[in-house]
Amino acid sequence: MSKLLDQLHAVTGPGGVLAGEAMAGYGPGPWDGGRPVQAMAVVQPATPAQVAAVVAACHAARQPLVVHGGRTGLVHGTDSRAGEVVLSLARLRRIEAVDAVGRTLTAEAGVTLQTAQEAAESAGLLLPLDMGSRGSATLGGVAATNAGGNRVLRYGMARMLVLGLEAVLADGTVVSALNRMLKNNAGFDLKHVFIGSEGTLGVITRLVMRLQARPQSRQTALVALHDFAGMTALLNRVDAGLGGTLSAFEALWQSYYRYVTGPGAGRTPPLAGDYPYYVLLEAEGGEAGSDARRFEDVLAQAAEAGLIADAVITRSDRERDALWALRDDVMRLTLLRPLFLFDVSAPLVAMEAYVDAVRGALMARWPEAHCYTFGHLADGNLHLAVSAGDPAGADRAEVERLVYGPLQAIGGSVSAEHGIGLEKKPYLALCRSPAELALMRTLKSTLDPHGLLNPGKVI
Ligand SMILES: Cc1cc2nc3c(=O)[nH]c(=O)nc-3n(C[C@H](O)[C@H](O)[C@H](O)COP(=O)(O)OP(=O)(O)OC[C@H]3O[C@@H](n4cnc5c(N)ncnc54)[C@H](O)[C@@H]3O)c2cc1C
Repeated sequence: MSKLLDQLHAVTGPGGVLAGEAMAGYGPGPWDGGRPVQAMAVVQPATPAQVAAVVAACHAARQPLVVHGGRTGLVHGTDSRAGEVVLSLARLRRIEAVDAVGRTLTAEAGVTLQTAQEAAESAGLLLPLDMGSRGSATLGGVAATNAGGNRVLRYGMARMLVLGLEAVLADGTVVSALNRMLKNNAGFDLKHVFIGSEGTLGVITRLVMRLQARPQSRQTALVALHDFAGMTALLNRVDAGLGGTLSAFEALWQSYYRYVTGPGAGRTPPLAGDYPYYVLLEAEGGEAGSDARRFEDVLAQAAEAGLIADAVITRSDRERDALWALRDDVMRLTLLRPLFLFDVSAPLVAMEAYVDAVRGALMARWPEAHCYTFGHLADGNLHLAVSAGDPAGADRAEVERLVYGPLQAIGGSVSAEHGIGLEKKPYLALCRSPAELALMRTLKSTLDPHGLLNPGKVI
């Protein structure tokens, strides 16, 4: 192994390889709970060419690799074992170009989402992909996980926003597919092989991101609703009424709303009454005055139609931030003990019954159980924070069975946006057919016959 480490040293130069005690300098990831990284070495190339050389050397030595971006993934996709090499792309931080005419941004894979957003903004444009982990998550990571976030309804997931990419195959071959156009049907669109593959099919080194016109106005409201049917009816009504400017439609179940506005949360509930459902909705448009009038009209009509029980429309950035803080209060959820967090999706027509069934099953097993529910309703994406069972986590498998089990019958998914990693691997077959799983294995064994890239993850 020292021969391989010498080779990797030669490729990456001083500081490029951390082994032994030096690995302590790499530290745990921001969400690793302080656990130090397990690996034979951490390799940090500084250029795409160095990445290719590292991967080629590891291939020749049949050395397994685990790719790291910002390490904000939530499904243990970056977990590594003592004999594996961690390949960190954190030093690939170059923004190569922002094309304001073609509205694209070309960058290396280790650029953080926030840095890329700021570069787009400096050019008067918008990189619409956004999520709470923006300060650490990398472009390579968001592509590798096909990340979603809060504006999927309007702009799509990462897959829709990556126009092209460059990837290194398991044997070190560089596949450069840095397309910059919206339309390009010349054969297979190979970027899709790597987007959402969670580091198992190739290492993404460079990307071309699609940019959009920057919105000139923004309207935000929190509304309370009497029932679930009212929520889906409201979604259709505002989507049609706002003429394509609706950018977020975040549903909060009563359980979640009460928890983040209740005693100890340190905030006054923005809506005083107690309702079964709440929606945080936002529109982004091109002309402040007329956009605001239209937003208010659409909500007023929905109230007249009996869909909305109560509403508050924000008048300042401070008020807007306060509403989003409710939706994004993940830190308050992490105070729960025990806590099991889920990211699933379900067809809208089946969602209400699914949530009720899960809550009922949890409470039948643990009468003191809590299930705090919220999510990107328009995307069919639910987040469930379950507090039930043995605080030491011994009941995890049973909680997972109760949450994931009913998804198969309704055509839902065990992962809406976080991916599979190690955490959800045992449940993949609940939402993928045998033929789909077989094709995934064929792709994996064709592109990585020795099983060197992110071994044991996903399939
Ligand atoms: C506070 C918080 C909020 C979040 N909100 C959201 C959200 O709203 N929506 C959402 O979808 N996710 C969300 N996430 C999850 C996470 O941020 C995303 O999965 C993100 O895309 C991961 O990027 P990363 O650079 O941190 O990747 P990592 O965590 O480093 O890696 C994730 C996976 O991708 C692989 N990988 C990383 N880089 C590359 C590369 N260059 N080439 C090939 N494979 C690679 C890794 O091997 C691993 O399997 C959130 C996480 C946190 C902590």
